[in-house]
Order: sequence, then structure tokens, then C-alpha cells
Amino acid sequence: MPALDDELNRRLALLREQNLFRELRRVDSAPGPRLEIAGKTLLNFSSNDYLGLANHPTLKAAASEAVNQFGAGAGASRLVCGSLAPFHQLEETLAAFKGTGAALTFATGYAAALGTITALAGKDDILILDKLVHACIVDAAKLSGAKLRIFAHNDLNDLEEKLKWADRAAPIENGKRKAAILVVTESIFSMDGDAAPLREMVALKEKYGAWLMVDEAHATGVFGRNGRGRADELGVSNQIEIQMGTLGKALGASGGYICGSRPLIDFLVNRARSFIFSTAPVPAAAAAATAGIQLAQSAAGEQLREKLRTRIAELNAALYLPPAAQGSPIIPLILGEEAKAMAAATRLREQGIFVPAIRYPTVARGAARLRITLSAANTGADVATLADALNQIVNPNA
Ligand SMILES: *Cc1c(COP(=O)(O)O)cnc(C)c1O
Repeated sequence: MPALDDELNRRLALLREQNLFRELRRVDSAPGPRLEIAGKTLLNFSSNDYLGLANHPTLKAAASEAVNQFGAGAGASRLVCGSLAPFHQLEETLAAFKGTGAALTFATGYAAALGTITALAGKDDILILDKLVHACIVDAAKLSGAKLRIFAHNDLNDLEEKLKWADRAAPIENGKRKAAILVVTESIFSMDGDAAPLREMVALKEKYGAWLMVDEAHATGVFGRNGRGRADELGVSNQIEIQMGTLGKALGASGGYICGSRPLIDFLVNRARSFIFSTAPVPAAAAAATAGIQLAQSAAGEQLREKLRTRIAELNAALYLPPAAQGSPIIPLILGEEAKAMAAATRLREQGIFVPAIRYPTVARGAARLRITLSAANTGADVATLADALNQIVNPNA
């Protein structure tokens, strides 16, 4: 047997050969529209901090106050040593924001998906996922042991085929399904920026007696009234059993959440292993997230969304792209080969612009892309600089 490092070096060389090697780039500044990397200042179009809240004075003040009052660490899991007040305040704020009976927060969105899906579905149950859902949902589905079906991305006909199959596989007997059927999608897809047809999906899951879980990681704070999300925007919030999201993107802090009925939340407290067997996040994160939700709902939050919409319209126009139907802040430029995306990202960096090359396994092989994300913290001049560089380097429409 080769020594571990020899074996790993062989595997790493293989990744490099395929242009799939990843490395961390150290940033010496706070998250924001400009990043300091290796002594150079780069314009940042890579973050999911869509409203520019991650370094906002209001969130930072809330975090510092929580450190002073509740300390740096939580000490244990919330069921073991008592559940600190900032988590309760956050969950009340979240439930009111999303208009649900209750909410539960996790250390990350990843942990929220893992704990929730494995709690709700076991080996006799059926999970039906959109082809492009986030890795945390795929991992949760595998870990649950449930029967798994994947429907083509945003394809309602294919979803209905899978629901028909599930309806036969788990028939309703004496008014109750033999097994649970859970459909899972994202509302705004993380790597493509497109939107799921939530209204039609709600109608389908009701027709077949399934449950629906919607991950609003990229929509919360950005879409809907006061940033409540796409489910709110489409008026289907009350018909979605499980609303999931992260506190680490537009809301500027960190953590994951599930919003839903009181029985759902009570059940997760009892059964979601990533919640039960994990130390509570730092109270400062909860306090920052509460401040982020409050800010997102305020007049200042609406101004930030207005600014973001302006930046999105500016970039789409400058890249000669059709105005995005949903006005998503995620704009993918799909280049195909991994090497091509890597080379484009390198050239942009040389021009002082940071845009990540997204490759397998985050997206399919051969569908590598530059994933541009816009933030309310970017200026119109930033966007013009980005568009000029993209039109020189990669844009086939230019
Ligand atoms: C980022 C993301 C998550 C995970 O949330 P974290 O809080 O970063 O762990 C889940 N789902 C989607 C769609 C995401 O983009």
C-alpha cells in the first residue's frame, strides 16, 4: 500500500490534469465590493452577499453586542446546555418574516438540509429532486436511504411522471399514504440564476398528495415583499410545507434555517441529527442574522434591493443579454471546457476583477462557467468595468 501522501499526490495530479484542482485564495480585507488578495485590490463579483450586509455597521454592532452579553461560544448543543436567547429571538424574527408558524436555525444551510431531509424521509419513503439542486440536498437524499428520483431541471412534465410513479409505488390506503413523498427544489438556482415554477409545482404536489420543500438560499432577502423570498412573491408560501434557506447570503450573517409549522419545528428539534448532535453556533452569528432580517425588511433594505436591480439591469444591457426574466443577481456565462473557464477567470484577475470559474462537480462536466454575482454594494462604474473586460475576454454576444 502506498504512503497516504503519495496516493493523495497522485489523485491531486489527476485533478490538475483535468483542470479541476481548487485552491484557497487568502483575502486580507472584509467581504465587500473590493477584495485584497496577494497585495492587489480586486473588484469582487463572486459573493452571495447580494445586499452588501456582511460588512454592514448594523450587523457588526449586533454581533459585538451579542459577544459582550452572551460570550464568544455557545458551549454545547442547544438541547444540552440550554438554548441561548439570541437563537430564540432569531427564530421568532424568521417565522414572522416568512409568515410561518415557527422556525428552527442550524449552524449552516448545509446542516439544515442534511438534518431535515433525513428526519422526514427514511428508506421506505420517496424523494423527488430537481436535477440541479444543491449538493447539500443531494447528500441528504443519499444519507436518508429513501428511494430517489430526479426530474429534469424545472421540467413539470417530468416531475409529474415521477409523481405518478411515486403514487403507484406508495399508494394511499385508508386515507393515508404508505410512505411519504417529498419533492425538493430551489426557488432561484445557485449556479444558473433561473427560477423554479413554484406555483405549478405546488399544484402538482397537491394533486399527488406529496410534500414540498423549497430551498430559498438565493432568493431570501432579494425577492418578494420586503425580501421574503420567491414563495412569497408568487403567493404560494402557505402551501409549501418546508421552507429552507441560509442566513449567510443576502442576510449577511451565517447559519441555516427551516421555516414551517410548529409541529414540523418540534419534530426537527427531536429528530434532526445535525441540529441535535452539533454545538450551537456562536450567539454573535444569530444576533447578526436577526439584524440582517430586520434590515432586509426595512426601507433601507428596499433601497438596497432597488440598487441591486439597477446593477443587474446595467450588466445585462452591457453584455447584450436579454433582460433576465426573474432579474436574478446570478449571471452565468457558460464557457464549456474547464480549461476555458479557468483561463477566463485568470485573465479577469489580471485585470483586477475577481469572478470565479465554476467547474465540476459544482456543475456538470463540460458546463464550466464564469459565475458572476452582483451586489447592492457594487457601483455602476464597477459594473461598467466588469462588462468591458467580459466583452473583451469571453462574451460571444459582444
Ligand atoms: C449556499 C447554499 C446552501 C448552503 O447554505 P450554507 O449556509 O452556505 O451552508 C444550500 N442551498 C443552496 C441552494 C445554496 O446555494
